Amino acid sequence: MATLVFLEHHEAELQKGALGVLARAAAMDEGEVAGAILGAGASALAAEAGRHGAAKVWIAEGEGLEAPLPQPRVDVLAKIVEAGGYDAALFAASVLAADVAAGLAARLDAGLNWDLVDLAREDGRLVGKRPALGDSVVVDVGWKGTPAIGVIRSGTFEPAATGGEPEVVQAQVELEDFSTTATMLEQAHEEQAGPSIEEADVIVAGGRGLGGPENFALVEELAKALGGAVAATRAVVDAGWYPYSAQVGQTGKSVSPKLYVACGISGAIQHKVGMQGSNVIVAINKDANAPIFEYSDLGVVGDVHQVVPKLTELVRAKRGK
Ligand SMILES: Cc1cc2nc3c(=O)[nH]c(=O)nc-3n(C[C@H](O)[C@H](O)[C@H](O)COP(=O)(O)OP(=O)(O)OC[C@H]3O[C@@H](n4cnc5c(N)ncnc54)[C@H](O)[C@@H]3O)c2cc1C
Repeated sequence: MATLVFLEHHEAELQKGALGVLARAAAMDEGEVAGAILGAGASALAAEAGRHGAAKVWIAEGEGLEAPLPQPRVDVLAKIVEAGGYDAALFAASVLAADVAAGLAARLDAGLNWDLVDLAREDGRLVGKRPALGDSVVVDVGWKGTPAIGVIRSGTFEPAATGGEPEVVQAQVELEDFSTTATMLEQAHEEQAGPSIEEADVIVAGGRGLGGPENFALVEELAKALGGAVAATRAVVDAGWYPYSAQVGQTGKSVSPKLYVACGISGAIQHKVGMQGSNVIVAINKDANAPIFEYSDLGVVGDVHQVVPKLTELVRAKRGK
């Protein structure tokens, strides 16, 4: 058994989601687990990948791999899968990873399962766990051939620093003509203050119970006081109150912070699937029968307009800010 994990990196940092997938693959303890880091700065990140569970790290840098474009990465990964004899290639979901995984599946005529929330090895075969029927059930999915290509839902696994030192191998870079025809003209970064919701230890989330977009200020103030990030439900994103990048749930992001404070959120199943991995869930809702209270560790039955500012004030006083 040998598994390859695509280790996406941006701005000289390996992505947390990819390190989480690496940790899960390593924890299955079934043969070699390798990482592939492709693009500018790859070699400088190899040791970090080793510390997070990769026994071997394939690296490739240079022309054609500087921009985060999928097709050149497909070329290099296809060669790595062949050279290393990997029977599984795993990706943490992202815009780039989804493109690369799909391209690799087409190139190798391999099967692809996506939106996985867990992995297991059963009798040596990889089995993926995938939510279905509106996330109300989790089904086992398999692959008919190899490599088994899997895309894991974002935020599913936490990275684990196990402290290893990897064997570093230079991957062969032979790009196809058609892979170099796309050019990255411009890259833009969304400006944000504080941590992203995928990385944050504390998330304060707002729902329709806030009453209007202007009241997101309450949630932002509390998040700031706690040093956390702001998330939102689909209802408020659809209403244009908050950007989609903050949406948590089935059609948004999966998060697993230490603390998740839900303000004016009913707790629909499609929201729950994106945040149920949080360590401690605190809900503030004026309806004592709101479903969110069924899976909260602490519930406050009250009006967000009264409770949230008071809470912010108390947090600030406690932290002396
Ligand atoms: C295929 C599909 C995918 C979906 N994907 C997602 C997803 O990714 N993420 C997601 O979040 N949803 C998703 N949804 C939508 C989901 O079903 C819910 O509609 C949505 O989560 C509800 O958002 P909400 O809790 O903000 O609003 P509501 O359900 O309207 O809840 C508002 C809550 O605020 C409370 N409230 C009202 N006023 C106050 C007040 N003053 N103080 C305190 N509490 C108050 C109410 O009691 C209520 O419980 C999806 C739905 C479908 C069908």
